[in-house]
Amino acid sequence: MDTIEADLAIVGGGIIGASCAYQAAKRGLKVVLVDQAVPAAGTSGACDGYVAVSSKKPGLMMELAVASKQIYPEIVRELSLDPEYMPVGGLLVVEDPADLEALESHVTALRSVGVPMEYLDRQRMLAFEPNLSPTLHGAWRCPVEAIVNPYRMTLALVAGAVERGTRTLWRTRPKGFETNDGRIAAMLIPGGRIVAEQYVFCAGVWSQELGRLVGIELPVIPRRGELVVTERGAAPARHYLMSAKYLVAKADPEAASRSSDPRMRIGHGFCLEVNAQGQCIIGSTRAFVGYDRNVTPEGIAIILAEAIKRVPAVAHTKVLRVFAGLRPYVDDKKPIIGRSGRVANLLVAAGHEGDGICLSQITGAIIADLATGRRPTIDISPLTPDRFAPPGTAENRAKTAIA
Ligand SMILES: Cc1cc2nc3c(=O)[nH]c(=O)nc-3n(C[C@H](O)[C@H](O)[C@H](O)COP(=O)(O)OP(=O)(O)OC[C@H]3O[C@@H](n4cnc5c(N)ncnc54)[C@H](O)[C@@H]3O)c2cc1C
Repeated sequence: MDTIEADLAIVGGGIIGASCAYQAAKRGLKVVLVDQAVPAAGTSGACDGYVAVSSKKPGLMMELAVASKQIYPEIVRELSLDPEYMPVGGLLVVEDPADLEALESHVTALRSVGVPMEYLDRQRMLAFEPNLSPTLHGAWRCPVEAIVNPYRMTLALVAGAVERGTRTLWRTRPKGFETNDGRIAAMLIPGGRIVAEQYVFCAGVWSQELGRLVGIELPVIPRRGELVVTERGAAPARHYLMSAKYLVAKADPEAASRSSDPRMRIGHGFCLEVNAQGQCIIGSTRAFVGYDRNVTPEGIAIILAEAIKRVPAVAHTKVLRVFAGLRPYVDDKKPIIGRSGRVANLLVAAGHEGDGICLSQITGAIIADLATGRRPTIDISPLTPDRFAPPGTAENRAKTAIA
């Protein structure tokens, strides 16, 4: 049986695992990156790519997004594969004055962390984006935001990690772990084992199953999002666009599911980006349907109808394809990032819901800090993996029964 030795063994080759591998390799660690499939086979290859700070909840999530956004361009410059990072800026479109009121405290919070936000009335909004509907009330513009091709970004980070000495094992699924004295002693893989000083779990929506192999609870559940891709054509927008109502769909699934409005019930929130190929990627929905990645006629119909209302030119584009991805959702709406107190040499980075593309860079930097014994620059204690009761305990059983 072959034994592979490493400083850091990472499970999961999505954008989060790839970023952790890249950052750790950059700091000189000997890294092994393992995935049951291939890079970006999970959610990171089935999503859109806003590097958006204005959609984040004030507090820690906003702080992480600002930090990640700040380091994104520098990391992109270091990579040899172009991930199509485009600092286009974002527009939060306001459909009616009531939305404007609801956004007031959100904008104040953004400004308090140094994010420039500029209100555009209808006339100025149309000067920036002439294809927007004149029925819209106005828009908040955030000029520092960007979009990236998430699939290419994941591949670029993996390539960057490999160039810095990382070994990759694709189509490799851990069969189990040997533990000893509260630590992982080895990861068992088909035909061999990996013996590492430290391990990182970055398994996205599959985290719960992986966590249970070492007796910890990582309650990440899939939240499906559907997207429409159009053929290349005249780009109907320069900025990425997002509806103010998108923030509601994201933040309050309970209210959305209780609503009699079918758009709310399927968690619809309008967003549109024009990618480097000149295609529109239009979203999106939010639904808890297990691991079902099918698209629905209702979801696609609502996505297109709502897009045409805001950007009438979308009616003249051709739909190329539709697809769905699974956001890694955690019930307390926070990702899980940090060192496990129950398995001493285990780090976790998972559960980024609709923010993993944006937060990937700061997450990789934090995990590399922890793996090299440095204190991260941001206090991540609220994100600890220890906030969930271990599987099989009375507390965990009660929670599972309620759910
Ligand atoms: C429709 C949609 C739109 C989105 N838009 C945005 C956006 O605009 N901006 C943004 O920031 N975020 C967005 N997101 C969220 C973002 O895509 C995710 O947060 C991010 O991709 C999660 O990355 P990950 O690496 O944690 O998970 P994944 O990409 O799913 O990677 C997990 C990897 O782990 C592997 N794996 C799992 N279990 C095992 C195992 N036991 N052994 C080995 N390998 C294993 C899987 O094969 C997979 O490759 C969107 C998501 C969706 C669905």
